[in-house]
Amino acid sequence: MNHIYIEQKEFCTGCTACSNVCPQQCISFLEDEEGFLYPNVDESFCVECGKCKAVCPVKKERGDIPDENNIKVFACVNKDKKVLKESSSGGVFSLLAQKTIEKGGVVFGAAFNECWDVCHISITDSDEIFKFRGSKYVQSNMGDAFSSVKNFLNQGRQVLFSGTPCQIAGLNSYLGREYTNLVTCDFICTGVPSPKVFRAYRTHYERKFQEPILKISFRDKKYGWDAFSMVLCGTSKEYRKIRFFDPYIQAQYSHISLRPACYHCQFKKCNSNSDIKLADYWYVSQVHPEIAARDGVSLVIINGPKGQKLFDSVAPEMQIVESQIEHVYRTNASFAITAKEPVARKEYLQVVCHSNSSEDIVRWLEKHAKLSFKDKIVTRLRFFKHQMFTRK
Ligand SMILES: Cc1cc2nc3c(=O)[nH]c(=O)nc-3n(C[C@H](O)[C@H](O)[C@H](O)COP(=O)(O)OP(=O)(O)OC[C@H]3O[C@@H](n4cnc5c(N)ncnc54)[C@H](O)[C@@H]3O)c2cc1C
Repeated sequence: MNHIYIEQKEFCTGCTACSNVCPQQCISFLEDEEGFLYPNVDESFCVECGKCKAVCPVKKERGDIPDENNIKVFACVNKDKKVLKESSSGGVFSLLAQKTIEKGGVVFGAAFNECWDVCHISITDSDEIFKFRGSKYVQSNMGDAFSSVKNFLNQGRQVLFSGTPCQIAGLNSYLGREYTNLVTCDFICTGVPSPKVFRAYRTHYERKFQEPILKISFRDKKYGWDAFSMVLCGTSKEYRKIRFFDPYIQAQYSHISLRPACYHCQFKKCNSNSDIKLADYWYVSQVHPEIAARDGVSLVIINGPKGQKLFDSVAPEMQIVESQIEHVYRTNASFAITAKEPVARKEYLQVVCHSNSSEDIVRWLEKHAKLSFKDKIVTRLRFFKHQMFTRK
């Protein structure tokens, strides 16, 4: 059998390089019982060309890994207060997107569709950048985004593509060569939660509100960047919980709801070879007290001249302080450390894989996220300590 076959789920990130490269278009992505998409080959159309196996970025020999002595690190804050408030960290991505579109380019990123599923889309109008703003803590459906990127690149259009490190590695492998008109942008990534669990969560609130959901934010900054909240709004009702107390965010932070491949991530540090890597610059006030931290600070890692050129072009719109890679290792564990599969995941899988009731799934998440009195006190103290260090 000379086509892709998923025997061990930890080897598949769902990047879609295989389905995009297939000349027969006989690979589709189907959701498994946990809610993640995996490739499925229609063998009646497969010509056994082997391209899907060869393109898989997980199975491929790693190319050159960036030399950390050549990368640049910055702490940045977008000067536009409204965009900063709407973004997860320091609002850098919106500036990169704006500049790309101003030059006639195309921007790819993750956005909600009309059913609140998260999908990769492309935009060419700066009025649509808001769709990308804010982290969506759920794995995005890539569809045929890679083929679409290739078409735009071959037309000579400038493309900015943003995604998780494994999506960037997949895109680079699919393209198979360097394009001067492509800039890739990823982020330091803990891991991606299951779309099935996210569907259960929002269905639960839709039922509770008895109203359609009109807004979802995983990173609302009403109480500050470091005390971000999960928010779901109906027409008249609102759910809002600070990250430490929201069961959905806790399931991601405790690594329980992640894709199996996230526990074996091969794209930590700068191994995705993205041109720009963004992240939250947690504890920035300890390292760079001169930067305003209340509404969010982005950690920006620049790898090579293409990323540097785009970054330089938006530099006047930001407050910038140059930083060092050592601080990234110290302040952002997910940069280098792969999420560990928690023991409680076995119990979680029993519920998620065998239940089609959103109430069962949410009930389990709530039970799992429940803090003991002692943990509540410790969490609150940690939170206040964290705020004292980050605020200025
Ligand atoms: C699943 C996930 C895990 C993350 N884990 C960490 C972490 O452990 N540590 C850390 O410091 N930062 C993490 N981040 C990144 C961080 O939350 C910010 O997205 C990043 O700092 C950029 O912020 P910004 O203010 O510049 O832009 P924003 O406006 O917040 O930019 C959002 C960008 O993220 C992309 N995006 C949003 N959701 C998704 C998605 N589901 N899949 C692919 N792309 C998406 C958008 O296309 C856009 O490019 C994570 C983000 C996501 C989506």
